Amino acid sequence: MKILVPVKRVVDFNVKIRVKADGSGVDLANVKMSMNPFDEIAIEEAVRLKEAGKASEIVVVSIGPAQAQEVVRTGLAMGADRGLLVRTDAAVEPLAVAKLLKAVAAQESPDLIILGKQAIDDDMNATGQMLAALLRWPQGTFASQVVVRDGSVEVTREVDGGLQTVSLKLPAVVTTDLRLNEPRYASLPNIMKAKKKPLAETTPEALGVDVAPRLEVLTTAEPVTRKAGAKVASVEELVSRLKNDVGVL
Ligand code: AMP
Repeated sequence: MKILVPVKRVVDFNVKIRVKADGSGVDLANVKMSMNPFDEIAIEEAVRLKEAGKASEIVVVSIGPAQAQEVVRTGLAMGADRGLLVRTDAAVEPLAVAKLLKAVAAQESPDLIILGKQAIDDDMNATGQMLAALLRWPQGTFASQVVVRDGSVEVTREVDGGLQTVSLKLPAVVTTDLRLNEPRYASLPNIMKAKKKPLAETTPEALGVDVAPRLEVLTTAEPVTRKAGAKVASVEELVSRLKNDVGVL
């Protein structure tokens, strides 16, 4: 079984985001970038399937600028076999990413594509679903457990108020939720080994995909700052403040 794992280079989750003064977007100058955390979970799941003898090859793919190579290398250091960079400096929306991944899937013929449920930069939560629709493959989103059977995959999904288990015929698309696994850190020897693993490069043009944006960002704003709280000395004071000052009682 061959697994394709798309990984996105995003602002590191520890970075405090700064909005550009003109509200046109987020300031990315000198900001630490890393692999989207949900994609680390996707790689980890693929590597575990390979370690369990269920998968034979893992291909990791990223769409982005030259620096996106770094997250592909991270995937290789975690245990993927081969990398692919679809190089573009354009800002790519989920639909464009899904079209590019469909083109990559046509070349690679994976049995399973494992994506993150969402990229933590723009929180779209759309690419996996769009890709499954374009490929006409079944999808199991928000996976908290993945069990590969003969010709199918059983996905336990985190849904409101509980879990749902679906069985998908392969080839299929799965997106990862937080509780699927705890990704490993790449060890230094594996980081060194990853430098020698094959990493190919292509472009949207070569894949015949138009990545022109369909969405327009109107404005980007900082979250509203919270007003300072106040301490009260007793329940009576709390009730009185809620009644008289806040007006909620
Ligand atoms: P999104 O729909 O943008 O929230 O992203 C969901 C998932 O799609 C991510 O976790 C990645 O697995 C994949 N993805 C999104 N953008 C890219 C990209 N530029 N390159 C590779 N994979 C991506």
